Amino acid sequence: MSLPRTMKAVVVHGIEDYRLEEVPVPEVDPSEVLVHVKATGVCASDVKTYYGARVWGSTQIEPYIEIPVIAGHEFVGQVVALGDGAADKYGLALGDLAVSEQIVPCWQCRFCQRGQYWMCERHDIYGFKHQRAEGSWAEYMKFPAGAINHKVPSQVRPEHGALVEPLACAIHAVERGEIQLGDVVVIAGMGPLGLCMLQVARLKSPQLLIALDLQEHRLRLARELGADMALNPAEEDVVQRVLQLTDGYGCDVYIEATGAAAGVIQGLQMIRKLGTFVEFSVHGGPVAVDWSIIGDQKELNVHGAHLGPYCYPRAIQYIADGTVSADRIVTHTLPLERFAEAIDLAHSQTESVKVVLIP
Ligand SMILES: [Zn+2]
Ligand SMILES: [Zn+2]
Repeated sequence: MSLPRTMKAVVVHGIEDYRLEEVPVPEVDPSEVLVHVKATGVCASDVKTYYGARVWGSTQIEPYIEIPVIAGHEFVGQVVALGDGAADKYGLALGDLAVSEQIVPCWQCRFCQRGQYWMCERHDIYGFKHQRAEGSWAEYMKFPAGAINHKVPSQVRPEHGALVEPLACAIHAVERGEIQLGDVVVIAGMGPLGLCMLQVARLKSPQLLIALDLQEHRLRLARELGADMALNPAEEDVVQRVLQLTDGYGCDVYIEATGAAAGVIQGLQMIRKLGTFVEFSVHGGPVAVDWSIIGDQKELNVHGAHLGPYCYPRAIQYIADGTVSADRIVTHTLPLERFAEAIDLAHSQTESVKVVLIP
């Protein structure tokens, strides 16, 4: 297969400074894989990064992003080159569809050595690290040596393949909720992640599955995708409603996927004593809550959820066999050149759910 020398890519230069550029097509070294990107999603974190979120650092935290870097960490690509040993290592052949887990582990730190690679100390996530983990908003993309790559069945449509990453994150978050038989589960935030979590939580057969969101079109979708109830906190007192539904005790499991402070505060109010609160969102800044609720009042289990460790094979299976409906979540596909419009669409949320770019 003859490859071009250069390709189009969206390169991050700074806050609100993303440029479509002609850059070299990466070359593959041993154990590396080059894919032609077939589809790549716009994540809420891409939108936040564009507008200058925490990854750029603050007085309290070091910057995480290393620029210039090609954006994007949700993708599926077709294998076009394999470095020595990569075919055997990953079970990949030229022409296969493939994804790579969003974090490229270092395999050296204490977390990697204990199998907790998603907490890798170096933490190279595609789209954030210059040269070490360049992202997918490009025609071609390299999976570096050390990446965790998976084959995707050829029948999966590219725009659905771009949903593997968020679905893997959703599976991990739901597992962190440790849903038990008879549980009342509330998922707050019906963005792409929340809608994936909802469909995964449905597989656990909770007693009652409640979705919360401020957008009516997303609540409608939540009902169609398996929510028993879909409530709008802008229109009713959802804390009171959940308490009424549970004899005044509160929900057993609350999964926070709103990215808004109110989503945390209402969750701490509507969860029962000894309940499990899963925090998935990335918040724009500090969130102020009555911290005593966690210990003194309710003795909660507060479980963080980050990335989708060990969940990719299941995510691929769920998308390939239709267990999770990707079709309803991917609402917009745009060519890569229109990335600015895609960021706007994902940002406004009023009509879009998942926006996907096609390089
Ligand atoms: Zn993401
Ligand atoms: Zn590591």
